[in-house]
Amino acid sequence: MSTALSTQIQLVARPHGWPEPSDFRTVSVEYGDLEPGQVRVENEFLSVDPYMRGRMRDEKSYVPPFVLGETMTGGAIGRVVESASDDLPEGTVVLHQYGWRDVVQEDASGFKAVPEVPGLPLSLYLGMLGMTGLTAYAGLTRIARLEEGDTVFVSGAAGAVGTAVGQIAKLLGAGRVIGSAGSDEKVELLTSKYGYDAAFNYKNGPVREQLAAAAPDGIDVYFDNVGGDHLEAALDAFNDGGRAALCGAISVYNSTGTEPGPDNMVQLIKKSLTLEGFTVGSHLNLAGEFQELMTGWFSEGKVAYDETVVDGLENTLDAFLDMMRGANIGKMIVRTSTPGA
Ligand code: NDP
Repeated sequence: MSTALSTQIQLVARPHGWPEPSDFRTVSVEYGDLEPGQVRVENEFLSVDPYMRGRMRDEKSYVPPFVLGETMTGGAIGRVVESASDDLPEGTVVLHQYGWRDVVQEDASGFKAVPEVPGLPLSLYLGMLGMTGLTAYAGLTRIARLEEGDTVFVSGAAGAVGTAVGQIAKLLGAGRVIGSAGSDEKVELLTSKYGYDAAFNYKNGPVREQLAAAAPDGIDVYFDNVGGDHLEAALDAFNDGGRAALCGAISVYNSTGTEPGPDNMVQLIKKSLTLEGFTVGSHLNLAGEFQELMTGWFSEGKVAYDETVVDGLENTLDAFLDMMRGANIGKMIVRTSTPGA
């Protein structure tokens, strides 16, 4: 038994527009000896995710706001380094939601043991093998009700969810998959590595025009990570009976006011469209089915992934902001340095 110091990042003010360093503080917390049932975990990787921007607001949503003066919660993966619980012996790899800190000490019930998959980094549990992949799978299969041969359009296509959506869509029988992303490098990767049939850089011209050119026969499914002009363009491009899975609207997450809605909602009537929003938390019942499929695809070499890894807990806020600005390809991850190293 021993004590341990934990460095933690806390939200201290609600950002107006883009978050600033002054909205956060770093604190050092000393954990005492373990109590019965507790474990001490050293984190290896932290997740920074767009939904965290929503939780920085004092607004009612599907998850409560972050509490000011408390440590930022969120997905993380680490290893048990001391244990007073028979359920999680020392060395166990665990997933948890205790967020932006290097060390955490809590009751074992707050952690989930996960197996190490040979050849794959643990960080994949925060991305393709975890909530990110499940979001893509649930959105495609349960919300957009993907059918064989569908033409699928994905916005935010080179990000964590987007790279999963394009590949899963193809593996489940989509006909043509079209993606949009914010740089020429990302667009090139979409077609060369991620199985997209066509892709465009939304910064190079109006999305409406670029999508119409990439999908001359229209689209059947739209997986929306962005909202705004992308959703508007998708409504115009839809074939009759088209379905949109509304997953995210990152184009407005840092807005300080209200944003105008699509100017073409009448398309929903003309084309009998379905737009349905969802959150992955409502589809956790699919986790087992998804894990089995995804680990199978990985072992068959059918899935590619990228991670943009930022080193150091002290760079977590920068990693979050860089992800919101589009600096990441695939999942943005923070690798926490080993305490004392
Ligand atoms: P990403 O890895 O996709 O990172 C965010 C990306 O958003 C950036 O890389 C950037 O890429 C893009 N972006 C930023 N601003 C804009 C803009 N104004 N217009 C278009 N693209 C922009 O993040 P995630 O994969 O984690 O999340 C993707 C989306 O899915 C988000 O909207 C998120 O909220 C949502 N989500 C929803 C879940 C749910 O349960 N409903 C669960 C998980 C995620 P680029 O260079 O292409 O601009």
